[in-house]
Amino acid sequence: MTVPISLEFFPPKTPEGVTKLAAARAELYALDPEFCSVTFGAGGSTQHGTLQTVQAILAEGRAGVPHLSCIGATRASVAATLDSFKAAGVRRIVALRGDLPSGAGSFGEFRYASELVEQIRAHSGEHFHIEVAAYPEMHPQARSPEADLKAFAAKIRAGANSAITQMFFNADAYFRFVDDVRAIGLDVAVVPGIMPITNASGLMRFADNCGCEIPRWVRLRLQSFGDDSASIRAFGLDVIAALCERLVAGGAPALHFYTMNQAGATRALVQRLRG
Ligand code: FAD
Repeated sequence: MTVPISLEFFPPKTPEGVTKLAAARAELYALDPEFCSVTFGAGGSTQHGTLQTVQAILAEGRAGVPHLSCIGATRASVAATLDSFKAAGVRRIVALRGDLPSGAGSFGEFRYASELVEQIRAHSGEHFHIEVAAYPEMHPQARSPEADLKAFAAKIRAGANSAITQMFFNADAYFRFVDDVRAIGLDVAVVPGIMPITNASGLMRFADNCGCEIPRWVRLRLQSFGDDSASIRAFGLDVIAALCERLVAGGAPALHFYTMNQAGATRALVQRLRG
């Protein structure tokens, strides 16, 4: 496999988490990622941690890429965040709407990620390469796949450069989404977001929450392993390596790994793919 890879982390909440993540990053840098992105908590919970983690990555000589969500934000708060990213040396951002914490808060001054992309371009010009989210199996709140495709197109037309997908296990959903994107005249890179399998119950919960289908045969196998984590990891490695191979053979331009701040599973996967 020769395509570039990128890695995603979340900001640790404890000093111990900071130390563990630094060790995981050091191990994963051996894979030579194109960039390392750091998620952004809607509602303010981890936003300072995002910048701190990105600064640590930049200080390690790697491209640190903050996510930025706009739900609950104001134009002034987004402008201030963009200025702090620029001052830190950031050149790429993952721009998202985010999700309202359940039952709390209001949308703020932005309704959709396309409005955030517009604001980033209006405030910072071409300084940042802008990534946006894509949903091969449709965003759970979209009215239809067509409506979701229009929403995706709005983000690209507002100035986004490329996209990273939600995790998925069905390569056909990805290929169909890319075909649909090309059919409406957009030639942006759509990079598959890959979730290594390390923990069956956590994975199933997360997939259900974000509208990602786990094939029945995969779910059944995972359930049958119970708490035998070595078997879950070995099976997960086979399933996800086969998915990645199919995606790359079918034209995926790069792979983005949701590391969950753990080095082992992503490293094993990339090493397997690179032979
Ligand atoms: P949008 O593109 O705005 O879409 C949200 C919904 O609105 C969709 O259903 C869309 O179809 C619909 N829509 C958009 N525009 C219109 C319109 N004009 N009219 C009608 N409907 C419209 N969340 C975080 O909080 N922090 C993170 O760091 C984070 N990182 C992520 C990274 C990736 C790669 C991905 C795939 C997701 C990430 N998320 C993150 C989750 C994301 O915030 C949620 O999936 C959120 O629900 C949608 O964000 P979006 O940017 O895709 O929103």
